[in-house]
Amino acid sequence: MKPVDRHLADILAAVRPLAPLEVEIDAALGAVLAEDVASPVPLPPFDNSAMDGYAVRAEDVAAAPVTLPVIGDVAAGDGGLNALGPGLVTRIMTGAPLPTGADAVVPVEWTDGGTVRVRIDRPAPLGNAIRRAGEDVRAGDVVLREGARIGPAQIGILAGVGRRRVRVRPRPRVVVLSTGAELAEPGTPLGAGRIWESNSFMLAAAVREAGAEGYRAGSVTDDPKEFMDTLDAQLVRADAVITSGGVSMGAYEPVKEALSPLGTVTFEKVAMQPGMPQGFGVVGPDQVPIFTLPGNPVSSFVSFVLFVKPALRVMQGLPAGPPATVRATVTAPLRSPEGKRSYLRAVLSGETVEPVTRQGSHQLAALAGANALIVVPEDVTSLPEGAEVEVIPL
Ligand code: AMP
Ligand code: MG
Repeated sequence: MKPVDRHLADILAAVRPLAPLEVEIDAALGAVLAEDVASPVPLPPFDNSAMDGYAVRAEDVAAAPVTLPVIGDVAAGDGGLNALGPGLVTRIMTGAPLPTGADAVVPVEWTDGGTVRVRIDRPAPLGNAIRRAGEDVRAGDVVLREGARIGPAQIGILAGVGRRRVRVRPRPRVVVLSTGAELAEPGTPLGAGRIWESNSFMLAAAVREAGAEGYRAGSVTDDPKEFMDTLDAQLVRADAVITSGGVSMGAYEPVKEALSPLGTVTFEKVAMQPGMPQGFGVVGPDQVPIFTLPGNPVSSFVSFVLFVKPALRVMQGLPAGPPATVRATVTAPLRSPEGKRSYLRAVLSGETVEPVTRQGSHQLAALAGANALIVVPEDVTSLPEGAEVEVIPL
């Protein structure tokens, strides 16, 4: 059997970052920056008031309380140059440019609010309530680096440095296709011998959580031709494909039957539990990566975490490797098959981790109640309560 680490290494070596493209910043949410972004100007671009109040010379209010003449107003957006002579003040609003000559702002709360003359009750230290040009960003400073994931605040600063478009690696478009004659769409009645289809919903959600676009292509029966026709139709909009089911050792394995003859997808037994039957390769004229995951819901989920998620990071131009782990003390004894790496569903709380009681690869409810996977190495077959284990938080 193929070791887990080698299967991941093969996948990471085969996938490539998506080509960067220019998008409107409105459309950049969730994408990864493919350039360093610098500011063409300082931010703020000019000295301005941090509060509504009065622009003053600090020395004129040092002996407060004082009453001084108000020569006018400066509002946010005022562009004209204005200067403040000694002994005079102007009203000033938040964000308005500081008049030359002024070196402090007195908040309106420290005054009687006068518009012709104003009584100022407290002295203001030099520089009070002034936002200096360049105190957030200097002209030419890089504000976002290539490889940054673009969230709302990153879109904010892109706009804040005047950018309308930005170069990104787009969110990979990932088509998820389930196979199985027994599958019924949730929301429709369940006939004899059938189960509701869950994998395409779960995997499409996992894709979205990983920063990509997940499209459910629904499910097909166990007919290899129907599978291949659906796959062909979906390839045009896919940067990657995930299938579930149809890769085991039985009869009616449509994914294996349809893809094996192509010679570009390899089906292997990977030394892990759950999730032993795995397939990976490329399909179509554009050599779209395809992950053929086993159908048992827990197996397909664990396979996603171990193999697909890191690959999606590579496609987004992000550093990728095995999932991050923490160490914890297990609260119950564990068993694990010889020669396979186990990923046991568990609840991690602080320093301890409790395996859930139902560890079957079909027991999706148990997975839904877990928040972590305990990793048990290939050569370990049992662990006592209290043992230290490696854990993948989910
Ligand atoms: P397979 O890998 O196709 O042999 O399927 C293994 C097991 O997983 C079977 O019990 C299937 O019924 C179940 N299964 C396969 N695909 C799905 C799916 N999309 N949703 C829920 N269960 C599935
Ligand atoms: Mg099947």
